[in-house]
Amino acid sequence: MGFLEKKKVLILGAMGRSGMSLQELLFDLGARIGIADQKSQGDPAVPVEADLRPDQGSSILDIFEPDFVVTAPGVPLSLPIFDAARGRGIPVYGELDLAFHVMEEQGKKPYVFAVTGTDGKSTTVSLLEHILLNLPFAPSVIACGNIGLPLAQVVLDGVPDLLVVECSSFQLEMVEYFHPDTACILNVAPAHMDRYDSMDDYALAKANIGRKQGSQDLLIIAEDFPYLDELSSLFGRLERLDLQSFAPGHKELLDSLKIPGEHNRWNLLFCIRMLQDYFFRNGIDWNENLQALKQAISTFPGLPHRMEVVAEKGGILFINDSKATTVQSARMALNSFSGRPVYLLMGGLDKKGDFTSFHGDGNHTVYPFGEAGPMIQEQTAARHFFPDLNAAFRAACEDAARNLPALAPSEGRSPVILLSPGCPSQDQYKNYEERGRHFRELVEEWR
Ligand code: ADP
Repeated sequence: MGFLEKKKVLILGAMGRSGMSLQELLFDLGARIGIADQKSQGDPAVPVEADLRPDQGSSILDIFEPDFVVTAPGVPLSLPIFDAARGRGIPVYGELDLAFHVMEEQGKKPYVFAVTGTDGKSTTVSLLEHILLNLPFAPSVIACGNIGLPLAQVVLDGVPDLLVVECSSFQLEMVEYFHPDTACILNVAPAHMDRYDSMDDYALAKANIGRKQGSQDLLIIAEDFPYLDELSSLFGRLERLDLQSFAPGHKELLDSLKIPGEHNRWNLLFCIRMLQDYFFRNGIDWNENLQALKQAISTFPGLPHRMEVVAEKGGILFINDSKATTVQSARMALNSFSGRPVYLLMGGLDKKGDFTSFHGDGNHTVYPFGEAGPMIQEQTAARHFFPDLNAAFRAACEDAARNLPALAPSEGRSPVILLSPGCPSQDQYKNYEERGRHFRELVEEWR
């Protein structure tokens, strides 16, 4: 294909998942490939001309002399190589953006939904994918991007009718081409502050989801989205969705949702609004599909490690929300069980979050653990902190069992042991999945 054929392309972060897909895609398109990765060298997916390290800085550019640089989202843009490339006038693209461009150059034009936000991206993307897959006219649908399947891989394997792209802020930092038909920013809350200088910078990266949209395209934000300045130079339709007034018109659909959590109802409202836009622009009748929409929503099983119901045992409900790695997602989880006694397991890698609002209030008790345990104990005035999840879990179970009401708890009122840590897991685990699996094992072994 034209613009890449015989061109020398340097891939940064080449040995990760999106880097590997990029290697193959660019190779297929006739590019000459150089790769650079901190972690591992050797064993690329395709024959390469240069195998380098990104921390070699500008010398890589002298060695390989690329026409383009493409980067996987995990590579920090603060590395000197990016400035050096720009200084020499070498274009730099992100993986998602370049894959999107290739897709369009190949004349493939799926309808593209895109979702970003601090929390709820994967849930919203999977829910939207699930609903679309269950529509009576059975479109082909693929969820990709940050959810795990690189867009470059989709372009290699075959582009469906509809794409639902999960976009992390890292993937949106450089956008030249990516222009989803219908997009949303679910929310913006403090996260990744090690990568951004300020919340405004972080919001600006999120706003890039709409940067290249055309006048027909739609970007949906919540009514109270605070970073409107960052969105002021967009060309598409910007809609501020008032969830409170939008919800009553969709009560039936909302009532069909089985997964717990007020925030998941918000995620569904964003899905509904995105679907309406797609239906409207494609002349598809909403009411004719209402039954199918309801049915699809009611069968959405949710994602593992996000408000996942693990078991109800001995009168206690166990919820695995290990993916709640930010304070605000843990807050959402706790709010979802208001009126019930909650034994809340919080902790992990200490990211200096503000946990003061979790101060025990008679309804919930905090069991801090791991590296952040002492800090959370101090901020929430918890009685103890625990070295690890195992110890916190045992203490919480003992307390919950001791305090069980003498009579069987009424439906929907049983106490909850909730793992919603509010911190990343890497102080003691490889990732949040491993932490969530450990929690499931603990529940299984209990009693
Ligand atoms: P992401 O892909 O953005 O990290 P996930 O869907 O994986 O989001 O969910 C991450 C965590 O955030 C889970 O604990 C989930 O319950 C919680 N969550 C989901 N939706 C929202 C939301 N709209 N607002 C706040 N927290 C949310």
